[in-house]
Amino acid sequence: MKDIINILPENVANQIAAGEVVQRPASVVKELLENSIDAKAKEIKILIKDAGKTIIQVIDNGVGMSKRDVSICFNRHTTSKISDAKDLFNIKSKGFRGEALASISAISHVNLISKQSGIELANEIEIHGSEIKSNKSSVSEVGTKISVKNLFFNIPARRNFLKSNNVELKHMITEFIRVALAHPEVKLIFYNDDSEMYNLPVSNFKKRIVNLFGVKSSEKLVPVSENTEILNVDGFIFKPQYSKKTRGEQFFFVNNRFIKSPYLNHAINSAFEGLIDPKYNPSYFLNLEVDPASIDINIHPTKTEIKFEDEHSIYAILRASVKYSLGQYNITPALDFNRDKSLDIPYDFEKNGNSNSVGIDINTNYNPFDVNKSREKYVEIDLFKQKMDSLEFSSESNELKEFNFEDFESNVHLNNPIQLNKKFIVNKTKSGLIIINQERAHQRILYERFLKSLTLNKVNPQKLLHPIVIDFSKADIETLKSNKNILNQFGLDFDLESEKININAVPSFVNIDNLKEIFENLIYNIQNEIPDNSFSESDLICKIMSKSMSIRNGKSLDLKEQQYIINSLFACKETMICPFNLKTYVQINYSEIENMFK
Ligand code: ADP
Ligand code: MG
Repeated sequence: MKDIINILPENVANQIAAGEVVQRPASVVKELLENSIDAKAKEIKILIKDAGKTIIQVIDNGVGMSKRDVSICFNRHTTSKISDAKDLFNIKSKGFRGEALASISAISHVNLISKQSGIELANEIEIHGSEIKSNKSSVSEVGTKISVKNLFFNIPARRNFLKSNNVELKHMITEFIRVALAHPEVKLIFYNDDSEMYNLPVSNFKKRIVNLFGVKSSEKLVPVSENTEILNVDGFIFKPQYSKKTRGEQFFFVNNRFIKSPYLNHAINSAFEGLIDPKYNPSYFLNLEVDPASIDINIHPTKTEIKFEDEHSIYAILRASVKYSLGQYNITPALDFNRDKSLDIPYDFEKNGNSNSVGIDINTNYNPFDVNKSREKYVEIDLFKQKMDSLEFSSESNELKEFNFEDFESNVHLNNPIQLNKKFIVNKTKSGLIIINQERAHQRILYERFLKSLTLNKVNPQKLLHPIVIDFSKADIETLKSNKNILNQFGLDFDLESEKININAVPSFVNIDNLKEIFENLIYNIQNEIPDNSFSESDLICKIMSKSMSIRNGKSLDLKEQQYIINSLFACKETMICPFNLKTYVQINYSEIENMFK
């Protein structure tokens, strides 16, 4: 028989290994920052262009590398951090696998210049896809400067599947923040496309949190501190009222390494039990210090999951120390989690005709529901509509599909819908009954209206009497900044400051009481690019807006609100699925009901 097994050349092996280490530009940011930290840098600069797709550059003033080390650091399994197996049980550095530089250089164009102190010249190496292009002496400061260009140039599938710049940038910022929090003793500067996003001076943990998450975060912090034989805990939680619906700021660091741990997260959630609505997530920034021999950080290639020897005790200590802090700082349960915000006095819109801050000619009296009077026997237009009704269009360009229920096969009668389980709207039809998912239906309604308003370039923003100010982190502000133009086109008019947003106008149907949550959702959905195969950026943003602004399942709707959902859904071009291709309703015919009784 012929031998068929090949020994793969090093560059191919590296490229395969790179798949695990480098998922996206953010992975490069993480690995390079960690190398600089391990090199004892006191100051690290990171510069990225085009969300890292063009270049990621990291400059540090660490110990640098010798000529020989520069030549071999891109080989696989080359590391200065461990030398034999017993070192694996006492890891104090970030890296130790000796894989990152090999992997990165296998799938990009890398240039590295490094100089040690006391040595006259720096050494510079250029590597393209594991192939050394040049290796020479050069001039530079003490430290290391590494540039990674054209990531995934030789893996087109990976390159093509990178997400939008918003999403990739958010991932990079996430990694940056993790390193920045773990190392307040290091000065860190982050440039995104030549603009300085972060400039974090050397400080302590609390100041670092404030520098990252805004001055306002200082009032939200409650300290946590506990020293035991197996674990020292030190850090902060946010007061319960600052918990978020979207996963907010949740950070565990174990021996200065950011880790993910659903188990320990549960410990914190349980410490907050009774203090926050279970649908909300507490924010925390906690440093855990344990004996390095009692953990295994080798279980995950990017080292964000670790194994503790005594997980149960750590859980218990963590929970107890957070509970103690909450008690210590007199934090008592909020009285009513389920307060219905819609019962609060609504914020006033400016009453004069000056509701059009984006300079668009609109007939504010126009009511698309008035076009066909005969419709009124099915429809009751009401206050809720005024609150929720979306963008209004001028009558000339009215293309709203009419409510022709004769067209709708099962012929909905709107007399008496009922809401089930705060989620489903059930209504009788000619041939049986229909069950509508309220959230998905409302997403469909909003999505079509957003699309339409964008196509017709007609929106009806309502100017707020006083701008509403909401605090956000710099990263969130950055997301809003890069999407400001398109959000303006939807009637969201706002000014940005470094850590807050002033909202001047919103589309007429937006519930002002929920503005903070709506913006949080909006930012979250933009940053995480909801599951998507959109035609275009504007289609995607319509989806994001509809998802962020729709009423949720779990909200009680009164009769008129239910009718509004039914009416508007069946006025849509597409009624059966939400913008994310999920069913908006199901029908059950009398014959099916009959069958159930057989
Ligand atoms: P690891 O960090 O797991 O050791 P890497 O592939 O990331 O592996 O780096 C290989 C080696 O290159 C490191 O062990 C270190 O000695 C050296 N090195 C990498 N980056 C730097 C840097 N910024 N400053 C000094 N030395 C570095
Ligand atoms: Mg490394």
